[in-house]
Amino acid sequence: MDFQAYWLLIIPIFFGLGWLAARVDIRHLLSESRALPASYFKGLNFLLNEQTDKAIESFIEVAQTDQQTVELQFALGGLFRRRGEVDRATRMHQNLVDRSDLSVSQKTQALYELAQDYLKAGLLDRAETLFKDLRVSEFKEVATRSLLDIYVTEKEWLKAIEVAKELEGVGNEIGSKEIANFYCELALIEHSRSNFMEAENFAQQALVINKKCVRANIIQGQWAKQNGQHERAVGFWLQIENQSPDYLFLVADAFVESMKQLNRVDESIQLLRGWVERFPTLDLLSTLFKILLESRGPELAYQTIKDEFKRNPSLGSLDKYLEAQLVIVSPEQRSDLQLMRDLVHQHNMKYSYYQCDTCGFKAKSYFWHCPACGGWDTYPPRRNSDNDSQRSIKLSM
Ligand SMILES: [Zn+2]
Repeated sequence: MDFQAYWLLIIPIFFGLGWLAARVDIRHLLSESRALPASYFKGLNFLLNEQTDKAIESFIEVAQTDQQTVELQFALGGLFRRRGEVDRATRMHQNLVDRSDLSVSQKTQALYELAQDYLKAGLLDRAETLFKDLRVSEFKEVATRSLLDIYVTEKEWLKAIEVAKELEGVGNEIGSKEIANFYCELALIEHSRSNFMEAENFAQQALVINKKCVRANIIQGQWAKQNGQHERAVGFWLQIENQSPDYLFLVADAFVESMKQLNRVDESIQLLRGWVERFPTLDLLSTLFKILLESRGPELAYQTIKDEFKRNPSLGSLDKYLEAQLVIVSPEQRSDLQLMRDLVHQHNMKYSYYQCDTCGFKAKSYFWHCPACGGWDTYPPRRNSDNDSQRSIKLSM
């Protein structure tokens, strides 16, 4: 192929085009920055110098003078809400809702933000109305979840069930656990009003939604025991073995009391021994110790606890072992042993709490509904001392 002289022109032409493109870009940038008010840059400057309050004032000035800055107004509204200045957040979002020049999507977002403001301000009725409307928008899932939170806060359990069933999670384990707990709450309310049939029905519905709902069997057993129907009570509690046997410790004491009424103490001891072996917790061990001490005497009670301590050494079982020793020692040895047991017991009690799996909240009693994060069934069915002390003692042996 021959070289043509005009080919040399291509290089300067490319340079020229590049220079032109750069000029156009710079002009565009300059015109854009000239369009931004000075307060915007002042605000940025304050933000960079970590003077948040002054930065906010500057951005408010921008938002007031330039109605185009919709995103900035959303950002400021959200910031006010997070800082607890709900009135300012509400005014800002209400302003956006009232504007006629926003797109449908922006208007929906403004309504959602306003609903969140009402929620934060505790104006649940207003928040509920807005979230209901938002269930047919792009915010469907979050609006439904927020609506559910409102019904749980207000203890409107029937409405909570209806809304929870709409959520996608209904088919999964978390969704069914939640709904089963709502039925249990309803059951407890009806029982406290002496509507016993309704209470039983709701407890049964909890089991239909979640056949592993231990709570439904626990409460039905408690009601039966209160009515002196011990056979029935034991029947409910024994079902926990097939549901989630880790929870048996929650009913162990009541179970033994009912079994005593039915003259089935031997059987209850046999069952408890099996449970202690498979699900060793201090609560189950305590129940076993009490019934052995009462029905078989101190020697056998002590021997059982000693064997369990050897089989499963932990701070908790050591505590129980020392307690068991106290019932067999002579009065002369008692005071020293009592001192030792008190020290171990105090230390053990420090770690004797339940802890939410979701938020880590610690509680001395067992909760089905975490008072901190609002999760349902988020507490593992054992105290922290049943896990940690066991690990540390095993490692040091
Ligand atoms: Zn929690």
